[in-house]
Amino acid sequence: MGKKTMLVSLAVILGLLAIFAYSSEYELRFVPNKPYLRPEKNVPAPDELGDKFELKGGSERDNRGFPQRKIEDLASQYPKLFYREGPRNVKKVALTFDDGPDSVYTPQILDVLRKHKVKATFFLVGERAELFPDVVKKIVKGGHVIGNHSMTHPNIMKLNKEQTFQEIQKCEDVLSALTGYKPALFRSPYGSLDSQKVEEISELDVKLIAWNIDSLDWKSLTAEQVKANILENVREGSIILQHSSGSKKENLTGSVAALDEVIKTLKKEKYKFVTVSELLDIPYKK
Ligand SMILES: [Zn+2]
Repeated sequence: MGKKTMLVSLAVILGLLAIFAYSSEYELRFVPNKPYLRPEKNVPAPDELGDKFELKGGSERDNRGFPQRKIEDLASQYPKLFYREGPRNVKKVALTFDDGPDSVYTPQILDVLRKHKVKATFFLVGERAELFPDVVKKIVKGGHVIGNHSMTHPNIMKLNKEQTFQEIQKCEDVLSALTGYKPALFRSPYGSLDSQKVEEISELDVKLIAWNIDSLDWKSLTAEQVKANILENVREGSIILQHSSGSKKENLTGSVAALDEVIKTLKKEKYKFVTVSELLDIPYKK
């Protein structure tokens, strides 16, 4: 074989490898981020929504920091009341989406879930549900479970018992009017809770749902980062936290793009996607 032929074959092989690497559905370390996985432009919540759309306790970005260690402590202290994961002996995981509904990201997430025939759990904010009743109905129609995420998304650690109850009950009223049931699953805004709050809230006949996998998507990460945060930590019984709406500062484009990849990858690994209620074997309505 002449030198020229060898060089040409080498070039062809390298070319084919490059095409394979780029078209592979896996993100390969030596290939740059795929353009469609990058958040291209910020699609903020529509401005005209004003105050009602804002989270009362502030954006996730400014308020997060509730440590997973505290979540673990509460879960072991209240095993029938406070949950951060499901059984570890079955290949099931639950996708959860907080802070919706909105008109931007929630519908995109619903599309991805429908495409893959996957059911998830949405923890909704009452005031936002009032702004987007049709999106709430669409979530229900899609066969997903709806949970209570408070009326205005305050930091409930700063509220007294009466105010805490009002936050949960007002949200319950709004959601039950739209969905036809009173949600029996509650997730605290920002995750913040202590034993006293857990005990108080349990009087309202709800289970408290935390998570053990945080996608950190509220940091406006790229799809690849969100995907890595989930896939590098996921295991049997995981409850995965993403957001289906943010504040005006947050861009969830990466999170939506990651969702598609996360579902594909975990399905290949034979994981089954279930709602929180199915994962934990507890009712989602009162
Ligand atoms: Zn939230």
